[in-house]
Amino acid sequence: MHDQDSIFTQLAEREHERICFHQDYETGLKAIVAIHSTALGNALGGTRRRYYESEADAVYDILRLSKGMTYKAAVSGLPMGGAKSVIMLPNKEHPRTEAEARAMGKFVNTFGGAYIAAEDVGVDIQYVDWMAAETPHVMGGETVSRGGDPSPWTALGVFHGMRACLLHAGRADDFDGVTVAMQGVGHVGQNLCKLLTEAGAKIIVADIKQKNLDYVVDTYGCTPIADADILTAECDILAPCALGCVIDGSLTQNLRCSIVCGGANNILDDPEEDAVAMKTAGILYGPDFVVNAGGLIHLAGIYLGLSDETLQTKNAEIFDTTTQVLQLGEDSASTYSAAMEIAEQRISGGRETEVHAG
Ligand code: NAD
Repeated sequence: MHDQDSIFTQLAEREHERICFHQDYETGLKAIVAIHSTALGNALGGTRRRYYESEADAVYDILRLSKGMTYKAAVSGLPMGGAKSVIMLPNKEHPRTEAEARAMGKFVNTFGGAYIAAEDVGVDIQYVDWMAAETPHVMGGETVSRGGDPSPWTALGVFHGMRACLLHAGRADDFDGVTVAMQGVGHVGQNLCKLLTEAGAKIIVADIKQKNLDYVVDTYGCTPIADADILTAECDILAPCALGCVIDGSLTQNLRCSIVCGGANNILDDPEEDAVAMKTAGILYGPDFVVNAGGLIHLAGIYLGLSDETLQTKNAEIFDTTTQVLQLGEDSASTYSAAMEIAEQRISGGRETEVHAG
């Protein structure tokens, strides 16, 4: 549980624009929307539906995630801000209902488009479409809303990020003879296994869900190992694709990879310190919010009215952005701080434009 400062102090620390709490008495929905920044445009970010041990934990999660979305959009060159929403479940098994989703849709609608919802942990295409019955400001559905499951696009972006890392490390980017160790083979992981297998990589995998593990072993010939060993497995690329905060200072010295590049959000426990530790250890880190932006680019791109061709091009640009970040990272404290610098320049440029326009 996070014993935090007052909510206003937390908002000020990360420079959030606002946080809104909502309770629907008929369905029991308890939800929060946090808008970190609209300096570059309306803010798209997923709805996370899960059980939190405390309200403080939910607030901590949403503030971290929504700020991350601002930086992800900015570093990807999208004219979008950053936001996120969470639905606090009363217990881990609480079933999803259409009524709950529609109540959430009504809440999202109150932001008039400044916040645009989408999938996140615990929210699928069906849930998004239920929300969309109450608001046009939701992406990632298939019948009412648009865009569908963003994970194939996220995986494609991570793949481009990995190619950039290999080339920067002086390797070929054809994945021939490259071993990838992947933690988590859910939506993103499975799509990434497909791309990597087609490209000729050897993949070691771990997952706590046997069904997902069996799927990639049977379909792509991946080699399963114990979850406890995956992060320290000997490999070329370590790809965390499950949870956040999986690499901290103590783990860095035990890593046996030359590159870390994966789909999970917030891979590093303390990104500023851990990214420096990785650089010192000679490990190349492709910052998560740079390489896993493919899903956001896809849904935001459709929202912005971009053509299919432009969406493909923008996803492929993750290769260029990652290359730029890795090059800048040579003269910065870390690749993470290089990516933050690029994003911050764009965000402050957006703020200035706003002021002058007023
Ligand atoms: P998912 O729930 O479909 O898959 C996650 C997988 O990780 C599951 O198979 C789960 O069993 C496994 N897992 C959970 N804890 C684990 C552990 N301790 N060890 C090993 N495996 C474990 O989720 P997803 O959509 O594939 O997203 C994966 C990560 O990528 C998340 O961090 C998510 O925030 C991030 N992400 C996803 C997208 C997207 O488009 N879906 C976009 C950007 C970032």
